Amino acid sequence: MARSGAGGEDGGSLYASGPLPISWSLWREGPKAVLPPVAIVWPCPLSVDEYLAAGRTLVVVRPDCPACTKTMSFWSGYERSVRHGGRCHQLWVRRARCGPCRSSHALVPSFCLVGRLDVVEVIGELIAEVVKGKSGVRPSAERIDVPHTTARDWVRRFARRAAVLAAGFAAAVVEVSGIAPVLAHPLPRQALEAIKAAFDAVRCRAGPALWGMWAFASLVTGGGLLATTTNPGLRVP
Ligand SMILES: [Zn+2]
Repeated sequence: MARSGAGGEDGGSLYASGPLPISWSLWREGPKAVLPPVAIVWPCPLSVDEYLAAGRTLVVVRPDCPACTKTMSFWSGYERSVRHGGRCHQLWVRRARCGPCRSSHALVPSFCLVGRLDVVEVIGELIAEVVKGKSGVRPSAERIDVPHTTARDWVRRFARRAAVLAAGFAAAVVEVSGIAPVLAHPLPRQALEAIKAAFDAVRCRAGPALWGMWAFASLVTGGGLLATTTNPGLRVP
């Protein structure tokens, strides 16, 4: 992807180097989140199958409280449904609690979106297919065995949020690489370009082990990629 701006034309590294700021992995839903408790999406290195197989023995790194930065303690968990591979599964989601703040947070794996049944990779791939004009909503939905109305809602919600997503992810590219991405298409496809550009920029620093692009998008938006709020839910370190 073509890029412009300072940093790429001086003969040096295209991207800044060094470890990622911790806030990349601890972005959470914004203050207008509608689903209590507030969710923290964590960068899950496991596939959905591996996560399901781990059950309640799942190891999650204890996060710091987003409000006061103190390390939180684990505090039980709950089961939620996730649709993967055409079937619904029960997924164990750990909770963490901050004593000083008296608040609890669901630790949602990055392959999920908050409040969405399907894994983000499925949702994102369908959105990309439709937004790029490669397929209509109905045939795409039928191919992955998702109700047409559900898929239509994904695409519509993405289109409504496309402007804030494009701006937010483009800003993230600048923060990480110092280079402004060139976004060649109008909205909503521009938002896809910005997400891809941000993913590429972060992957250059985090290495090839970084989660897939749509898990990354879930992580950055705190699971709110398709949230109803007008708050983009996206924070740049
Ligand atoms: Zn706290």
